Amino acid sequence: MKGLKVDIRELITKSSKEQREALLNKDVTSEELVNAVYEQVDTVDDKIGAYNSLTKEYAVETAKKVDEKIQKGEEVAPLAGIPLALKDNINLKSYYTTASSKILENFKSPYDATVTKKLKENLIPIIGKANLDEFAMGSSNENSAFRIVRNPWDLNKVPGGSSGGSAAAVAAGEAVVALGSDTGGSIRLPASYCGLVGLKPTYGRVSRYGLIAFASSLDQIGPITRTVEDAALLLNAISGHDEKDSTSLNQVPPDYTANLKNDLKGIKIGYIKELCSEGLAPSVSNAIQKSLETYKSLGAEIIEISLPLIKYSIAVYYVVATAEASSNLARFDGVKYGYRTKNPENLYDMYVKTRAEGFGDEVKRRIMLGTYALSSGYYDAYYKKAQQLRRLVKNDFDNAFSKVDVLLSPTCPHTAFEIGSKVEDPLSMYLTDIATITANLAGIPALNIPVGLDNSGMPIGLQLQADCLNESKLLNVAFKLEEVVKFDYSAPSKTLV
Ligand code: GLN
Repeated sequence: MKGLKVDIRELITKSSKEQREALLNKDVTSEELVNAVYEQVDTVDDKIGAYNSLTKEYAVETAKKVDEKIQKGEEVAPLAGIPLALKDNINLKSYYTTASSKILENFKSPYDATVTKKLKENLIPIIGKANLDEFAMGSSNENSAFRIVRNPWDLNKVPGGSSGGSAAAVAAGEAVVALGSDTGGSIRLPASYCGLVGLKPTYGRVSRYGLIAFASSLDQIGPITRTVEDAALLLNAISGHDEKDSTSLNQVPPDYTANLKNDLKGIKIGYIKELCSEGLAPSVSNAIQKSLETYKSLGAEIIEISLPLIKYSIAVYYVVATAEASSNLARFDGVKYGYRTKNPENLYDMYVKTRAEGFGDEVKRRIMLGTYALSSGYYDAYYKKAQQLRRLVKNDFDNAFSKVDVLLSPTCPHTAFEIGSKVEDPLSMYLTDIATITANLAGIPALNIPVGLDNSGMPIGLQLQADCLNESKLLNVAFKLEEVVKFDYSAPSKTLV
């Protein structure tokens, strides 16, 4: 790569905006960007574990198409040529989609997810399939059947889950942007632990077609990026109606970059009392206070909001999510695709052994919990009750959004924890999602933005939530804070090499 006008190793750690400038200036080609990212993968991924598989042929072919168009002076989409990591529960035709499970270890997808189709239309090169907690069940990426993911800021710490590979790839310079999926926090939590922007869109904003379903009434695909603008650009690329997903909203999405720079005068920000007081790490609590002061100085009005039902949200989530998961995962039975046990005695034995051998412990725990919650005699006591509470949680939010534009809280009460420190205690792992789960129950958009580092140098994440379909406002409020915070997101990708 001698003779280049820019330092490409430096460039791949920057936002897509800077890379696009270099592409359009013809300082670099997309193929060079893609190759530089693969070099970084070669150098650091043994340590990080961000990818389950690479999709190099596809990435290079796409990059070449972009370069050809730029050479000819043709217009290319805003993220064309920018290397992306795709969570390995989203289908890319002809490549592996494993959901980090042994049961799908050798499964190659016969079709593209709708988001993947859109990435293709935008000519966004996909570098590889990013590691995750098996079937997206987890908060630390320690539940992958293949290997754990390590946090690029500190290799002894978890990157968060379940989209841990997607976030670690972006933080480590192994991709520039990524797609994750979020059922109870799986985009926002890893973004928080890895110092990135992560956005879970409104339920129905982005098609779920071709995403391996975990809990269908909660799942949503969204961006994990270094900057708020990149998140807006990626959301532009993937959102919109899809007739292949019956829960997809039939509304034309706005341009999410249009309002980023609006000033915040008159905007009402409500800090969530229940999440901003007790049980926070001191560094997190300080960062929240500082952000509130910043918003005040930017002209926003700060109001305290109480969401009393938050204390039930984890219980509600673990009934609803596991019930849906037990039904969604019934299809993995060794018949049509995926792993099948060797030498079963009969059909029943084949089902039982395939599932016993193919699923990991956490997935089995969820299937058992969910099957129990749905079983006759218990349905009313658990599933129906949980659905009723879910409605009340949504009412709490409706009430809050009649008073404020945006809700503010930490994304997690603490920063990334040591690998292995919570594996023996699933309940304490479940509790890391206390701030994120309610957005999925209510279907509202929610975003993580990095706001600083704690004493051990780990990123602290702030969560912003808005009413349904108010992603533009959310991104605007985040953008204004980002301008003040000036978070150094490229720090780990440099120290790693
Ligand atoms: N940590 C939560 C769980 O394990 C959420 C996961 C997710 O959002 N996919 O269920």
